[in-house]
Amino acid sequence: MPGIAVFPGSFDPVTKGHESIVERALPLFDSIIVAIGSNSTKTSMFPVEKRKQWLEQTFAKHSNVKVIDYATLTIDFCRKHGANYILRGLRTVTDFEFESNIARMNRMMEPSIETIFMLTLPEFSAIHSTIIREIIKNGGDVSQFIPEAVKSL
Ligand code: ADP
Repeated sequence: MPGIAVFPGSFDPVTKGHESIVERALPLFDSIIVAIGSNSTKTSMFPVEKRKQWLEQTFAKHSNVKVIDYATLTIDFCRKHGANYILRGLRTVTDFEFESNIARMNRMMEPSIETIFMLTLPEFSAIHSTIIREIIKNGGDVSQFIPEAVKSL
C-alpha cells in the first residue's frame, strides 16, 4: 500500500496503544502523518503544543512519521497533504460501531480516501486516554501506559 496515511486523533495524551498502531502500520505505507485534531465536541486536558511534543518524542526514531495539528475535516487534511489513507485503531466493538460510521461518512464525502483499521494488540486494548487523564487528575502513576520515549507528562 504505497502512499501516505493519516493517523488522526486527540492524543490527549499519547499512549502505548497509539504508538503500537503507528509502529505496526509503518511497513505498510511510505509515511504516516500523526494528525492532532482539534475536535469541536471535545475539550482537551493538555495543550496541543504538549501533545505534539510527546508524539514527536515517541516517533523521533522514524524519519517517515510527521506530527501535524489540524482543525478542519480529516478528509480535507488528507487532501491538503496528499494522503490516500486514514489509519484508525480498533480496541473493541464499541470502537467499531463508532469508527465504522465515521469511515462510511468520510467515504461518502471522499471516495478516493480509504480508511484502514488495525486491531489493537491485546496488551494495549484496555488503554484509553480518557482513563489515563482520570489517573493523572487523581495523582496516580501512568508511566506504564505511555510510550517509553515520553519521559514524563
Ligand atoms: P479520538 O479522539 O479520535 O478517538 P484518540 O486519541 O483517542 O482519538 O485515538 C486515536 C486513534 O487511536 C483512534 O483510531 C483510536 O481508536 C486509536 N487508539 C486509541 N487507544 C488505542 C489503543 N489503546 N490501542 C490501539 N489504538 C488505540
